[in-house]
Formats: sequence, C-alpha cells, structure tokens
Amino acid sequence: MIDQATIDRILNAAQIVDVVSEYVTLRRAGVNYKGLCPFHNEKTPSFVVSPAKGLCKCFSCGKGGNVVHFIMEHEQLSYYDALRFLAKKYHIEIHERELTDEEKQAQSLRESLFIVNHHAAEFFQNALHDTPEGVAVGMEYFRQRGFRDDIIRKFQLGYSPAARGAFAKEALQKGYKKEYLVKTGLCYEGNDGQLHDRFWGRVIFPVHTLSGKVVAFGGRVLKTDAKTAKYVNSPESEIYHKSNELYGIYLAKQAIMKQDCCFLVEGYTDVISMHQSGIENVVASSGTSLTTGQIQLIHRFTNNITVLYDGDSAGIKASLRGIDMLLKEGMNIKVVLLPDGDDPDSFARKHNSEEYQAYIKEHQIDFIRFKTNLLLQEADNDPIRKAALISDIVQSISVIPEAIKRSVYTKECSQLMQINENILVDEINKLKKKQAEKENHKANAGEAPGEQAAPAEEPRPAATAPPAEELNAQEKLIMQLIIRHGEKVICQLADDQGNETPITVAEYIANDLSRNEMAFHSPQHQTILDEVCQHIHESNFHAKRYFLSHPSPEISKLAADLSSDPYQLSKLYLKDQPDTPDEEQLYEETVHLMIDFKSFLIKDKLKHTLQMLQDPLLQKDERRFMEVMKQYKELNSLQSELAKHQGDRVILP
Ligand code: ATP
Ligand code: MN
Repeated sequence: MIDQATIDRILNAAQIVDVVSEYVTLRRAGVNYKGLCPFHNEKTPSFVVSPAKGLCKCFSCGKGGNVVHFIMEHEQLSYYDALRFLAKKYHIEIHERELTDEEKQAQSLRESLFIVNHHAAEFFQNALHDTPEGVAVGMEYFRQRGFRDDIIRKFQLGYSPAARGAFAKEALQKGYKKEYLVKTGLCYEGNDGQLHDRFWGRVIFPVHTLSGKVVAFGGRVLKTDAKTAKYVNSPESEIYHKSNELYGIYLAKQAIMKQDCCFLVEGYTDVISMHQSGIENVVASSGTSLTTGQIQLIHRFTNNITVLYDGDSAGIKASLRGIDMLLKEGMNIKVVLLPDGDDPDSFARKHNSEEYQAYIKEHQIDFIRFKTNLLLQEADNDPIRKAALISDIVQSISVIPEAIKRSVYTKECSQLMQINENILVDEINKLKKKQAEKENHKANAGEAPGEQAAPAEEPRPAATAPPAEELNAQEKLIMQLIIRHGEKVICQLADDQGNETPITVAEYIANDLSRNEMAFHSPQHQTILDEVCQHIHESNFHAKRYFLSHPSPEISKLAADLSSDPYQLSKLYLKDQPDTPDEEQLYEETVHLMIDFKSFLIKDKLKHTLQMLQDPLLQKDERRFMEVMKQYKELNSLQSELAKHQGDRVILP
C-alpha cells in the first residue's frame, strides 16, 4: 500500500502535460493543450489536456482522467502499479512493506518458472522454423491450415520434436533446473527417473499473460484420431491458473479497447484465424466455461462482449449457463450464430475482415432475446417445458446488476413469452431474495446468524425506472456537485434548543434522499455519496481530492470525469467565478438540483401509476386497485408540493 502523502507527492511531481507529451504530440489551445487521442483512432484531435486542472480527456471516446488514469490506460497497469511507474520516473521513493523470506522465495520461484517458459517458447519456435523436422512437419501443418508466416510469428507458434526427450535434454544442458522443468509442466519424470517432454510431436500454442509473458502451452496433435487427445495443455502451476488466463488477451487488448468490444470464441485456432483476417479484438476461453477471473480480465477493457457460436454447435445450450456470469458482472452480451457448418476459424478463412464484421453486425442478437427464442423453440408450446423455460430466463435476468436493464428485459421477455410482466417481476424478486440469502450465508459462515438486510425489491412495472439517459443526466449533475463541493457547508440546522449544526452539500443531499425514501439509480453514485458522508467530519476532508485518488480505479475515473465535464445544465457555472461559488449560491444550487431530481422521479412514477390504473386486470382486483389509487394520490400531492418550490430562489430546509 502507498500512503496518501506519497500519492500526493507523486501527483505533484508528475505534471500532466509532461507525462502526456511523452505519448502524444500536444499543441497549445488557449489555456489547454490538444492532441490526437492515444486511445482510439482519429484524424482530428479531440484529446484535451488541462494543466490547471491536472486532467486530460478525449471528447470523442471519453477516456482520460488524471495522470494516474492516463498511465493506467496507456500502460495497462493497475492503479497502484501506475503510481509506482510514475514514482520511478520522477524519482520519488515509495516505502512499501518488506517481503518476508517466504514471500521472496515464492517470488523467485515464480520468476524462475517464467524464465523457463520463455526459454521453452523460443526452443519450440526454433524447432519449427529452423529444423528440418519442424519445417517438414510443423510448418507443413500450419500452412495446410492456411496460417500466414507473419501470423505464425506473431502468435509465437512452435513445434515440439517427436523425440520424447528433445526439449528436456537441451534445457538441462543449458543449465535449466530439473525442478523448474517439472514445475512448469513442460516435462515430467518417468518411472525410470528420466525426464520426458509433455508436448512431444505436437505443434505448440503458447499462452500469454495480459502483459505478454508465456504462462502455459497448448500442444495439438498433427493427425486427429480418436486415440490421442487433440490438445495437451500445461497443468496448473505456481504461475498458471487456467481460470485466470484468456488465450489471446495480450494481442487483443489494444483492439478491444479501441473497438470497445470483445469477441469471445472457443479455440486457439479461432483466435488466430480471426487475427489473420484482420479482427484482433478476440479471445478464447479454451474450451472451458468462463470464470469470473477471465471476465474481469475482459471487463478492464470493455463492457461489451459478443460470443461467436458455430452454426451447428451442440455446445450452445451447455454454454448458456456460463453466460449468466457475464450478465452478473454487468456486461452487455450479444450472440452471433455463424452459418451452418462454419466455426469462427473456417468463417475467417472464407471471408475478409469487412465481410466478417458485416456478418457480425447483421446477425448479432442480444443474449437474453437469443436465449428466450432458443428455449421457446425448444419448448414448442408444451406448457410444462414452457414453465421450465420461464424460470430459466428469469434466472438470467435476476443476476443482472442494473435495475434499469433488468426492467427492460423483463418487459421484453413478457412480450416474447406472452406472460404477464407482474408474474415475471415476482419471480425475479423471489430469486433475488434467494441469491441475497445465499450471499449473506456465505458472508456469515461460521458466525452466529445476525440480522440480514433484505434485498431491494424489484419495482413492479407501475414504478419502472425512468429513461436511463435522462435520469443519468440528472444524477450526474448532482454527483458533480458532490465531487466538487460535497464537503462545503451550505446552511445551519437549528434544533429545539437553538443549537445550530452546519450542514454540508453532501449531507443535505443524503438527508433529502433518505427522507423521501429515494436513492441514486447508479450504484456507483450511491457508493460515492455514502463514502462522502462517512468521511465528511474528518478534518481537511476534500471530496474531489479524496475520490481522484480513490483506490478503486472505476470510482477515481468516475470522479475525474465528473470534475472535468463541462457543467452545462447548471446555472451556477454561468456565473463569473465558476470554481468558487459562495455559500448562498451553493445552497441555492443544491436545493434546486434536488427539487428537479425529485420531481423527475415522481413525474415518472405518476405516469406509470396512471397506466397501471387503466389496466383492466388491475381494475378487477379491487384491493390492489385501491392500493395503487392511494399511491397515486400520494404521489400527486408530493408533486404539487414540489412544484410550489420549483420556481423559488431560496427554500428553507
Ligand atoms: P482445431 O481447429 O485444430 O480443431 P480448435 O482450437 O478449434 O482446434 P476445439 O476442438 O474447437 O479446438 O476446442 C476448443 C479449445 O478447447 C481448444 O483450442 C483447446 O484449448 C481446448 N481443447 C480441445 N480439445 C482438448 C483436449 N482434448 N484437451 C484439452 N483441451 C482441449
Ligand atoms: Mn476449430
């Protein structure tokens, strides 16, 4: 861990213009600097650096933030590693905890295993390109499959000679320790005590980590027959945890970032052929179902995954479960079915990049819709099977973290399956409750059962979330206020005895929301508000500074965005001194934004309640009808209350 004082020193030393200029040619533009965005392809500069604010931002792709975010993005480092990177550059000493002897040993073992793998990858490449056997057998195989030479080099493909100890013998001769050869899984010890090669007589596909180190190998037989396994892969080791790696991620990460989308395929050869045809934002799960670790690897670069399936794949249904995990991580998932008889590899060999992209664009379907249709076809109007299908789909929807997305899907599925939306919502609520209980149970395992928070109920359609974009814009304005001025006092609250308590922007907003039983729709926004309120009474607490150097990269990036976006809708910033509004201005602004936000939410709720009241089904159920009617009246009076204040200049709390 790096302490806040050191972080401050690093941020002071690493001036943004300085740092960015190493990667981007900047030209002065008024008080700012401009250049071509390093994070996406563009011809006219939209990347702006503000030395005064210490921020940079691309106004086209939206990437940017402070120096640390810039380095994180550009060098693909974690938050702390980016800080270390900058500290090194500016000669700032970082005091970190000393490693224990045990940790040092573990680290040097890991390093040794990587060194051995690196050597092996070179050995296999040499064997492929520079030995008669490799050229005749290995190269011949790759050429037959249509792999170009540059692609063979790019993926560092290799060949392991047919003599069963060829690699072991050479490695031992060169001084690599037997222990490491065995621990990497490259070799294993036979009954005779001799070292044997795991991959003998196979073509080799090295697996790279995100940063490009060789962490494992896959070896493919040359002739497919039923007796031998088609692929042999490195076993798990101190450095290789299959569930944390994705084949192709190292060569794909830039393209994933630029395209803001990742294609997911099954096999090594699918990835390679797609690269060859010009599609580089592709990774493979290597035949197993995805793990959370792998998903998070992709999630660092994009929210969007498109899964490519063979047209006649028998595995589609089996893989549907794995995709629920993607939903759970908040990814947007699409699915493409390739034409019958084609897999991503063969399709790539028949089509160029443009045709491939066009096919994908035309045929990609949203995952939930895809799954619903697929299962509907299968159920074939059999009521029992249809019931099973509904619970299956509902399961998928229930894991989606965003309420708005869930409600959109619920609506759509209710139409596709011709099921009352309320029934789906009830089912989802039941499942969410179960999931929450399971999670609570996990968290409390071994402890006495404590009180458990009930999960938030899914709103019934009457209270469907308002249009995401508009709501988000409203919330963003309030968030900007919190980040920029959250800790500032805007009014005094007097109690019965006449004692006055100062109230800050953040506290006012938090109180206002909880009094009305409202919350921000974005969980991240809510987290920020909660965290401000936790720290607000610490001396020198400064919301912007605190969140810009927040350990969670997502949150610190969000804070950077919020503090750099132009404050278009607000009156406050039309005034002369945009960054130092006084107490009264801030008060007015806070109250004003909150009134707008609340009326927006209420207006939307009203609309839906009204729709519900017109529903003939509801009208038949007198008790429910009266309930909704009562809700409607309450909302109405709340709205007129707010409307009274909406034009006011100053409102007392
Ligand atoms: P090819 O096109 O040469 O048949 P592929 O890469 O398309 O190869 P698939 O049969 O589609 O292979 O399998 C997908 C992935 O599953 C492979 O890339 C490999 O990572 C893994 N795999 C396949 N068969 C095996 C096996 N027998 N043992 C272990 N892993 C395997
Ligand atoms: Mn294949």
